[in-house]
Amino acid sequence: MSDITLGIIGGGQLGSMMAIAAKKLNITTIIFCDDVDAPAQNFCNNFICGNYDDKEKIAEFVKLVDIVTFEFENIPYETLNEINKLKPVLPKPAVNRLIQHRLAEKDFINKLNIRTTRYVSIEKKSDLDSLEDFLPGILKTTTLGYDGKGQHPIHSIDELNSLNIDFSKGYILEKLVKLKKEISIIITRFENQKYEIYEPIENTHQDQILRNSKIPADIDNKIFEQSKDWAMTISEELKYVGTLCVEFFIDRNDNLYVNEIAPRVHNSGHLTINAYNISQFENHVRAVCGLEQIPLKKISNAKMINLIGDEISKYRKISKLNDNEFFFDYLKKEIKDKRKMGHLTTLI
Ligand code: ADP
Ligand code: MG
Repeated sequence: MSDITLGIIGGGQLGSMMAIAAKKLNITTIIFCDDVDAPAQNFCNNFICGNYDDKEKIAEFVKLVDIVTFEFENIPYETLNEINKLKPVLPKPAVNRLIQHRLAEKDFINKLNIRTTRYVSIEKKSDLDSLEDFLPGILKTTTLGYDGKGQHPIHSIDELNSLNIDFSKGYILEKLVKLKKEISIIITRFENQKYEIYEPIENTHQDQILRNSKIPADIDNKIFEQSKDWAMTISEELKYVGTLCVEFFIDRNDNLYVNEIAPRVHNSGHLTINAYNISQFENHVRAVCGLEQIPLKKISNAKMINLIGDEISKYRKISKLNDNEFFFDYLKKEIKDKRKMGHLTTLI
């Protein structure tokens, strides 16, 4: 074992894969999660269950670790900030606070002269007047959304008015982009101007949940370069340490937009486990633990499919896959509809 103990907040599939990557580097992992059934407890060295605002449990966790990172962005800022006074939290809590708020996130991106969808903040009833310019659009809660949760497609002002919006929460209304394609860039920033960056990944969604990812993305050279460039600008501006994902839209006129930033490893990067010498998870652990940066080498083109709900059952029964196929079972206790249960990567 190395002398580093890495604390990971969140015990889902991303936490599991970080723990697996850490193990390969001889780093001990302790996972903190509010779910007693968290699948990542199958892969880490030690598991603590507690709420994300339980000060005593958090203190117990912090005592045991050297560095803290996280697998999802919706952790209370207060919690990360308090931990950071005792042990380094990477990426920094301030990054998380910015990105977990859709409005602050989009304002930040636009200030860098990077294009996003058009958007408007909605905080009170009178904000619903004269929004025609933003329709058709999607109404999103400013915080706590994922996999399309907290989102409503809106076609008309009447539809918006009939929604009975709960104004105790903040929202943004985003103009719908006529999508040609969605891509993502996974980038790991080590320190000033030092990155490892994966090639653009092409993604398709079903019901706003990621379904397929593949490399190479079918895009022109300009979009290839611009997406990488924007991801570098964003991670440099954030002084980010670790792996980050930028999700992009491409419209029918080949304009590129940043959709959102995920300050963490990302589902679309699962194929990096098999398609590159170093996965997004290993690079994240290397960066936050201050280990050596190793140049990325692509091994193969690849495609990944998320196994959602009951689709996992079939794969659990297959005893032998083809040599170019890699099946991951997240070992979630219960099979639920619209829930990511595992994935299959195929090298192509
Ligand atoms: P989440 O935080 O749930 O991932 P996103 O904002 O990334 O939310 O939205 C999920 C998916 O919904 C996107 O990947 C895209 O397919 C679709 N979507 C969201 N916003 C827009 C938009 N403004 N125009 C077109 N499609 C959108
Ligand atoms: Mg998204």
